[in-house]
Amino acid sequence: MSRRVLVTGASRGIGRAIAERLARDGFAVTVCCRERVADAEAVAAGIRGAGGEAHPLAFDVADREACARVLAEQLTAHGPYWGVVCNAGLHADAPFPVLSGDAWDRVVRTNLDAFYNVLQPVVMPMVRSHQGGRIVTMSSASASLGNRGQVNYSAAKAGLVGASRSLALELAKRHITVNAVAPGLIETEMIRDAPVEKIVEMIPMRRIGRPEEVAALVAFLFSADAAYITGQVIGISGGLA
Ligand code: NDP
Repeated sequence: MSRRVLVTGASRGIGRAIAERLARDGFAVTVCCRERVADAEAVAAGIRGAGGEAHPLAFDVADREACARVLAEQLTAHGPYWGVVCNAGLHADAPFPVLSGDAWDRVVRTNLDAFYNVLQPVVMPMVRSHQGGRIVTMSSASASLGNRGQVNYSAAKAGLVGASRSLALELAKRHITVNAVAPGLIETEMIRDAPVEKIVEMIPMRRIGRPEEVAALVAFLFSADAAYITGQVIGISGGLA
């Protein structure tokens, strides 16, 4: 039987590329989204059409009760996951003096609280399965570099790094690795309104990254070759550091 993995934010962008790549690598993928259910269904159908295993699942990673309920149902129906990619995220940028409380809360809840909301219900079943496993969280270059207008986003993404490192220590003996991936600028809907041309000048490689490049890194972390890598933050940013 294929190992089961859950990828949040997989209806589009980086998460979609990760779901498609992990399915090609032989994993059975739960393709998660919040509201674009038709998109998640299309991603899952595309994977199945290519001979892989996938099913869509919609829930809000910022909603603790919804996560607990939906993930408990999944665990009962299908058993434990072998791997989880906490990829769903959003930003709500504004200079700090005019950053609203709502923008702070939405960004922290979706990017950071989701670590607890999604992982806490699934980790113990992973441990009890005695199969080892993989957890990858999607941080950002903004976590270490900072970024104007992204005080909330940088804080949440830096928080993910600390959470990932600590969980890595807790799960190391169980052969479950936990690593954070920190992309620079990647071509997705998220950067639709970003001043890409200006930012590209700051990137040593002078180009933005592709979702498939991030997916390849996650696929490596999910491979047997990466079994001894845990508690790390791995940048993928064309040299932006
Ligand atoms: P997109 O905006 O293209 O996609 C976001 C995905 O997250 C969608 O699948 C969306 O679901 C899902 N999502 C958003 N909010 C929630 C929520 N509350 N509950 C469940 N799912 C949610 O983003 P990217 O692919 O660009 O980004 C993926 C991750 O990578 C994010 O964590 C982002 O912060 C990070 N990142 C991205 C960078 C970039 O340059 N693109 C750079 C550095 C980090 P739905 O379709 O249903 O709305």
